[in-house]
Amino acid sequence: MTDADEAGETQGTILCTSCGLCCTGHLFIWSKLRSVELDSARALGLNVIREPRGRGFSQPCPLWHGQCTIYTSPQYPRFCHTYKCKLLKEVLDENTPLPNALMVVQQAMELIQELEVFLPPSSEISFRERLVTSMQQGNTNTDFQLKANALLAFVEKYFGVRDFFD
Ligand code: SF4
Repeated sequence: MTDADEAGETQGTILCTSCGLCCTGHLFIWSKLRSVELDSARALGLNVIREPRGRGFSQPCPLWHGQCTIYTSPQYPRFCHTYKCKLLKEVLDENTPLPNALMVVQQAMELIQELEVFLPPSSEISFRERLVTSMQQGNTNTDFQLKANALLAFVEKYFGVRDFFD
């Protein structure tokens, strides 16, 4: 690995540990698992989903505590290992400086915080699921709709997550 590669990887680690939105249920309702990973994931404490179309575990992930606590484990899910959001890829490719990327994360967290007040509180049901449900149920509050649409656009633009209702 070259010095530039190492520097990029360090920046990526700083970004991911400052963010965690892909582990905390703010970008995804669930994460994928391979069928061979289901039992070990369950043993780790993940809430495993076994339906054929959605084999994985639900978010928020209980193994996120400011950083992934099984990052070096042999049971670390492959999807977690391979997933890179758009922002991370841009930092790794040196197209976005780390301070700018950290500001994007901060802005995303602020938008999320502003929306939380419109949603039923829950530590078990992900933010994303509560947001999707609220939108599908036709929450007519104008402020909610404006902020929800702003977050959708922001998440698509900077994190590359489009299928918000998936
Ligand atoms: S196992 Fe680790 S990387 Fe995967 S969702 Fe949980 S905290 Fe995130």
